[in-house]
Amino acid sequence: MGQPLILATNDDGVNAPGIKALCASLAQRGEVHVVAPDREVSACAQSLTLKHPLRAERIEERVHAVDGTPADCVNLALVKLLPRRPDLVVSGINRGANLGEDVFYSGTVGGAREGTFFGVPSIAISLAARAEADFAPAAEFAARLSALVLEKGLPERTMLNVNVPPGMPLGAVITVQGRREHEGTILEGLDPRRRTYYWIEEGNDRWLSDELSDINAVRRGYISITPLQTDTTHHAVLAAFRAWEPALGNGHAIPAGPRRRGE
Ligand code: MN
Repeated sequence: MGQPLILATNDDGVNAPGIKALCASLAQRGEVHVVAPDREVSACAQSLTLKHPLRAERIEERVHAVDGTPADCVNLALVKLLPRRPDLVVSGINRGANLGEDVFYSGTVGGAREGTFFGVPSIAISLAARAEADFAPAAEFAARLSALVLEKGLPERTMLNVNVPPGMPLGAVITVQGRREHEGTILEGLDPRRRTYYWIEEGNDRWLSDELSDINAVRRGYISITPLQTDTTHHAVLAAFRAWEPALGNGHAIPAGPRRRGE
């Protein structure tokens, strides 16, 4: 068997320092191919571009820049651009954390989740620092974790969301997705034509303290690894909601047998 094939993507753009550091580090673990957006598209979640065609420009050996989202990139890579199915997808290293409910907005996580949808083991990795960040410790950890995932695989429909604290991490721990209370703030102003514009800001978040959470781990200087599943059903409340069924009509269990015609 040859070297593992690793697909790298991100949402900060193909030229961002985070993905460069990631690729340099992953090169010891396999044959790395980059398919990444041609510009920064942070907070695009897992959106797909359907309203206009996509272009992929080969900018160097094994590197493509796409005028789309990370999920577009993963799609295009898997279906068209890669020489074979990858053994691993790594999305990042994002500039800025993707903690708690950020996973619903994050393009970095969206790219990794798209890999998971295709059945490829996938990791999202973010550095919890904004300015002038040193990606080296996160890149080194990405390579170590990638080796482990290549060796052991991941459970079905499961991806790993990794957040690395700034500076030298004290260690790595398995965490749960943190929670916050979000208060949105919107900047309002007048444009040069004196029309009102709005700009969604990051807002004020009050993180709920939870020993096991990703946010707590990163705050304390540890690398956080949260296994995320693609099934977002709230299983613990199913029974309570089933008690609503009589009030919703006469539905109980769906009868076995053929589906209704026309469906
Ligand atoms: Mn980003």
